[in-house]
Amino acid sequence: MNNTFNHKNFEKFNLNWTSIQSELKLKLGIEVYESWIKKINLIEEFNNYILLAVPTRFIRDWIASRYLDQILQTIKKHKKEIIRIELKITENKDNKNQRLADSNQVNNNEKVSFIKESHLQYNRIDPNKRFENFLTGSSNKIAFEASLKVSDNFSHYNPLYIYGGVGLGKTHLLNSIGHKMNKNKKVMFISAERFMYQFVKSIKSNDMVKFKEYFRNTDVLIIDDIQFMNGKEAMQEEFFHTFNALLDKNSQIIVSADRPPNKLLRIQERIKSRFSGGLVVDIQKPEFDLRKKILNHKINELTNLYTYKLNITEEIQNFISGKITTNVRELVGAINRIVSFSRIYNKMPSLSETKVILKDLLNLTENNVTIESIQTIVCKFFKISKNEMLSSRRSRYLVRPRQTAIYLTKIMTTKSLPEIGREFSNRDHTTIIHSVKTIEKLKEKNTDMNDNINKLKNIILYKKENEI
Ligand code: ADP
Ligand code: MG
Repeated sequence: MNNTFNHKNFEKFNLNWTSIQSELKLKLGIEVYESWIKKINLIEEFNNYILLAVPTRFIRDWIASRYLDQILQTIKKHKKEIIRIELKITENKDNKNQRLADSNQVNNNEKVSFIKESHLQYNRIDPNKRFENFLTGSSNKIAFEASLKVSDNFSHYNPLYIYGGVGLGKTHLLNSIGHKMNKNKKVMFISAERFMYQFVKSIKSNDMVKFKEYFRNTDVLIIDDIQFMNGKEAMQEEFFHTFNALLDKNSQIIVSADRPPNKLLRIQERIKSRFSGGLVVDIQKPEFDLRKKILNHKINELTNLYTYKLNITEEIQNFISGKITTNVRELVGAINRIVSFSRIYNKMPSLSETKVILKDLLNLTENNVTIESIQTIVCKFFKISKNEMLSSRRSRYLVRPRQTAIYLTKIMTTKSLPEIGREFSNRDHTTIIHSVKTIEKLKEKNTDMNDNINKLKNIILYKKENEI
C-alpha cells in the first residue's frame, strides 16, 4: 500500500497521503472532504508525528476542532507510531487574507532560540494570539493586566503564575506575552509536557549539558500547563535549578496551570513555594457581557476573513452567549460551526437549527454531562457496580468498562486529565491517557466497541439508546 507515491518526495515519505485522503473521503463524506480534507497537504513526516499544511487559520481551527481525531486514526492505520499531528498554515501569496506580516515576524526572528529538529516543539508562538485580540472583562482583567505589565516592565513580577479552567485564555495570554517580548528578548515557550519529554530524551541521548544550557540561556521562559509536570524527581530537581538560575540572572518566568500553586499535585514543595513567591493571578469563567463581546469580535474577525457579512442575528448571539457559559473555547467553536453551516448550506441557520448544530456543546455546558452521570450510565450498560468500576481490581470485565468511562469523560467533558484521574479513585494522569488511547485503538479495530461507544454517547447526551 505504501510507497505508491510517484512524487519527487517518494523517498522521504513513507505515508501515502493521497490514499489517506481517499480513506477520509469515505469515512467523512464527500462534503467534508471537499470543504476541508482536500485542502490539507503533507509537508513532513517525523518518527512519531507529522506536519500538515492548511491554507488558512480558519481551516486549521475547524479541522483541529472537528476532524483531527479521525485524521489521526486513519494515519495510524498506515503508521502506528504517529501520535500527533501538527497543522501549519501556509497561505499563498495571492490569498488576500494572509497574515504574512505576523508569521514572518515569528518564523524569521533570529532571537528565538532553536535546538536542531526541536524548533517545532518549542517557541510555538501563535502570531494570532496577541494582546490586541484578547478581550477583557471582570473575569480576566487582572490576569490580562499582569501579563501586559510583565511584558512591558521587565522582571517586575517574577515569576508570574496564571491559573484557571480549561479554555479560559491562559495559553492565549502566554502567547501574547511571548509574541510581544520576542521582539527584543530571547523567548522560550514550551508546554510542561514537552519540557518533560525533552528532559527524558536528553538523558537518554546523554545530552543533559545541552539541555541545561538551552533552558538557562533564555531571557524569558514561558511554561504552559505546569500541572502536567508532576512526579519524576530528577526532572523536578533540574527544573528547580533552572528556575533559580533564571531568576538569578533576572530572566522572566511565566507559568500557567489549571489550579493555584498550593493545589498542584506531586510537585515539590519548594517549587510550589517559588511559584507562590511571585505574582499569582487567576482567570474566572467569562461573564455574560464578555461572552457577548468575544462572540461579536469573533464574528467581525471572520467577516473580515471571508469578505462576506455574517448575519448572525441578535437573537442567536444572545442565545449562544446565554447558553455557552463555561468556556471561551466552546464559544469560539460554536461560532465556527455556525459559519461552517452557512458555507455548506449557503444560508444562516435559524434559531432552531442553531440548537441542533450546537446540541452537544449546549448539553456540555448545561452540565448534563458530568463524570458522575457517565460513570453511572457506563456501569449500568456493562452491568457492573460503581464500586467495582472505581476499585483497583484489574479483571478484564472491569478494566474495559473503566477505560470506556474514562474515554467518554475525556471526549465529552472539558475536564483535564488530572481531574479525570481524581474522579477515578485518584488514578495518575498517565493511566488516563493510556485508557483513552486503548479505547481509541479498540474502536478502530472493533465494530462492537465502536457501536457501544456510540450507544453510550447517545444515552449520555440524549438519554436515548437507539439513535445515533
Ligand atoms: P486555555 O489555555 O486556558 O485552555 P486558550 O488560551 O487556549 O485557553 O483559549 C481557548 C480559545 O479561546 C482560544 O482560541 C483563545 O484565543 C480564545 N480566547 C480565550 N479567552 C479569550 C479572550 N479573552 N478574548 C479572545 N479570545 C479568547
Ligand atoms: Mg492552554
